[in-house]
Amino acid sequence: MRSQFLHFAPPLIGDEEIEEVVRTLREGWITTGPRAQRFETEFAQLVGAPAALAVNSATSAMHIALAALGIGEGDEVVTTTMTFTSTVHVIEHQRARPVLVDVEADTLNLDPNKVEAAISPKTKAIVPVHLYGHPADMDPIYAIAQRRGLAVIEDAAHALPARYRDRMIGAPQPGFDFPNLVAFSFYATKNLTTGEGGMLTGPPELVEDARVWSLHGMSRDAFKRYTSDGSWRYDVVLPGFKYNMPDIQAAIGLHQLKRLEAMQRRRRAIVAQYDEALGELAEVDRPVERPEVESAWHIYLLRLRPERLKIDRGAFIEELRKRNIGTSVHFIPVHEHTYYRERYGWRPEDFPVAHREFERMLSLPLSPAHTDQDVADVIEAVTEVIRANRA
Ligand SMILES: *Cc1c(COP(=O)(O)O)cnc(C)c1O
Repeated sequence: MRSQFLHFAPPLIGDEEIEEVVRTLREGWITTGPRAQRFETEFAQLVGAPAALAVNSATSAMHIALAALGIGEGDEVVTTTMTFTSTVHVIEHQRARPVLVDVEADTLNLDPNKVEAAISPKTKAIVPVHLYGHPADMDPIYAIAQRRGLAVIEDAAHALPARYRDRMIGAPQPGFDFPNLVAFSFYATKNLTTGEGGMLTGPPELVEDARVWSLHGMSRDAFKRYTSDGSWRYDVVLPGFKYNMPDIQAAIGLHQLKRLEAMQRRRRAIVAQYDEALGELAEVDRPVERPEVESAWHIYLLRLRPERLKIDRGAFIEELRKRNIGTSVHFIPVHEHTYYRERYGWRPEDFPVAHREFERMLSLPLSPAHTDQDVADVIEAVTEVIRANRA
């Protein structure tokens, strides 16, 4: 058994990131500036996006996406219940109404077959989440949005780098005529991290609107139209937020971007080791990767088969913790949290697939910072707990 506790998703930070942060501090431009701008350009290139805006979180990115699209009171936004709560919080922040939809049993992504029934004349946007890094089924979701004239805001917090058919997540959906924005997260546990941070990609005009929302609603461009004096003068055109990404964080992001390909190779190698070892065990279901996608493999989701085990998910996690293996659960469905239960009267069984799968899921340690020994320790612990608790 391991003597040291294994965290489920430690970051992989190299000397390059550290030195770039130090250089940034020494040079003296520490808030949003040239490094944030370079990070935006390089990120947009990587995912094939026409424009990108660096912000301080994916939550901020989604919030200003809604704001830039003018979504607010009286509007409805269709999204999945199987997500981190902030996907839905931002809809509340805008005083719009979240309309939740259940998920597909294999990927746990928004079920396109249930989206149509959730749409009303008040619906303004669909927010699919690429859960665990596995892209949601974009073609049918975009087909519905196209038919109904809806915007699509993708929560790609887990999906860097991921591919759906011929495009990277972050690139525009071909043939779609309505607004399409994509939000990425650089939170501490995500595939690429800046500690806290996020990126919004989309069409240049919309991204520029979002940029104004991201920084106090200040517009220098508006003023430049009227005068040549642009150095100190700004105008406020709307009550914006404070969501910009400082250069200290962009400094980390620039080197995480360079490291991304190698980090993903390591993630895939760990996934392959898990698949091989855990595939033998009839007590658990492993995650899927559909043929038309490339998952970012943000999370390795294990699902217990309760009929084959004497212990439930909670006890399983506790057994792993006793063996110094850290795990997590992604996610408690949004509709099961007190705020949402009380506000909309949702009951756990209202979204039966999400509820059932939540009850039997846990996320195994997965990070490019993990060594082969770490992975072997996880496999040994999981196998041991299963052997000791077969029904
Ligand atoms: C992490 C996460 C977010 C929020 O990202 P932040 O950058 O922390 O705001 C949103 N959605 C999902 C699915 C996430 O996992």
